[in-house]
Amino acid sequence: MAQIRIGVIGGGASGMMAAITAARQGAEVTVLERNNRLGKKLLSTGNGRCNLGNMDMDPGHYHTEQPGLLEHFLKRFSTEDTISFFQGIGVLLKDKGGYLYPACEQAAVVQDALRYELDSLHVREITECHIREIGRDGRTGKLQVSTGEKTYLFDRVILACGGQAAPGTGSDGSGYKLARQMGHSLIPVVPALVQLRCGETCLRSVAGVRADAEISAWCGESCAARERGELQLTDYGVSGIPVFQISRVVNYIMREHREVKLRIDFLPDYGEAEYARLKAARKLLLQEERTVEEFFTGLLHKKLMCLFIRMAGLKPGDRIALADPAAIEKVYGLIRRWELHVTGSNSFESAQVCAGGVPLDEVTKDLESRKLPGVFFAGEVLDVDGRCGGYNLQWAWCSGYLAGMAAAAGERQGAYAQDTSA
Ligand SMILES: Cc1cc2nc3c(=O)[nH]c(=O)nc-3n(C[C@H](O)[C@H](O)[C@H](O)COP(=O)(O)OP(=O)(O)OC[C@H]3O[C@@H](n4cnc5c(N)ncnc54)[C@H](O)[C@@H]3O)c2cc1C
Repeated sequence: MAQIRIGVIGGGASGMMAAITAARQGAEVTVLERNNRLGKKLLSTGNGRCNLGNMDMDPGHYHTEQPGLLEHFLKRFSTEDTISFFQGIGVLLKDKGGYLYPACEQAAVVQDALRYELDSLHVREITECHIREIGRDGRTGKLQVSTGEKTYLFDRVILACGGQAAPGTGSDGSGYKLARQMGHSLIPVVPALVQLRCGETCLRSVAGVRADAEISAWCGESCAARERGELQLTDYGVSGIPVFQISRVVNYIMREHREVKLRIDFLPDYGEAEYARLKAARKLLLQEERTVEEFFTGLLHKKLMCLFIRMAGLKPGDRIALADPAAIEKVYGLIRRWELHVTGSNSFESAQVCAGGVPLDEVTKDLESRKLPGVFFAGEVLDVDGRCGGYNLQWAWCSGYLAGMAAAAGERQGAYAQDTSA
């Protein structure tokens, strides 16, 4: 029987996994990659250490419009499968509090190991090849992909172009355009896992401060998202893991031209009663000779404390004994509930992933397009985004594997088959 010819558009995490999987099934695979080498984005993942999975694979760590469908995909390629796959291509892994990394903590080895495996399976790589068109060739019935200048024909195609986060690594949003050409709709795409920008100019005085905090996003009086972790203050807004986690929700609200406020609690371990006791105990420090700054010292980072003192209308050098008790109370209030007005997020350039994409109900249980059969999807181009912690790469491995298996399978396994599943 003639080999099935598969073209993989995009040689990122999901495309490399799809190509390896399909080639292992005996398909003749070509990866078409717009960069001059495969796996460029992998190098910047996990701050160069590549957090490639997570031991806690609760589907609740993902966002999509179709959680039921996603769960079905996630179950078919688990973290254990990721571990066996990487061990199988020689990469030792380590588990750091549930987060999976290559043991040497070097993303480059993950990229190298994937490329060596592609080589050993004789997967053809065509680099500097930016695919702009996709469709069916009327004459041969094969799938046709084209750069505009060069055209390639395949039996099956796997679209693994990523989203449009970090476009410098190659994912410039062209996967969405190709999906649209095929007749797919798109769940609106917004930057996710990204810094938020705020209107308060006073942020400049606290830029660089890091603090453990709880941050919540509010639309009117309803709380849209809440996270705890290390917050980083910047001159334009807020950053850090908890901010990344809530950023997709904030961006979707702002897309509807609704206002979002952030509330930050810098002492999230204190309940109301405990906080009242803490304030009562500190009354002992209300001594004649202490300044306002001296009185508040020890509660928070010095720069933040000075900012809150000024925001409450006090001066750090004033004597605390003469300070207005309402102003002292205001400082205590700001520590628990500092409000910032969001003006937007940083752009796709700074985002780690995109939220939105091709809806999961427009693909079959084998990730095959319901619009152009024979084309399979993998990775971030689909409407799936995960929390920080290795979830996005796990989705890339999982969807790449499933798409590669299905694309390489015989005709009755999904490709070209009339799909009747919901
Ligand atoms: C700074 C940063 C840090 C991250 N850290 C982590 C982490 O530690 N853990 C984690 O789980 N996730 C992390 N992510 C997210 C993760 O890297 C992505 O979710 C994942 O790489 C998506 O895989 P993908 O294959 O769908 O897309 P990509 O990896 O983006 O690959 C898409 C590929 O397709 C190519 N391409 C695009 N369009 C075309 C076209 N038209 N023709 C030909 N080629 C095309 C691109 O050049 C690219 O090589 C991070 C992301 C960033 C930006």
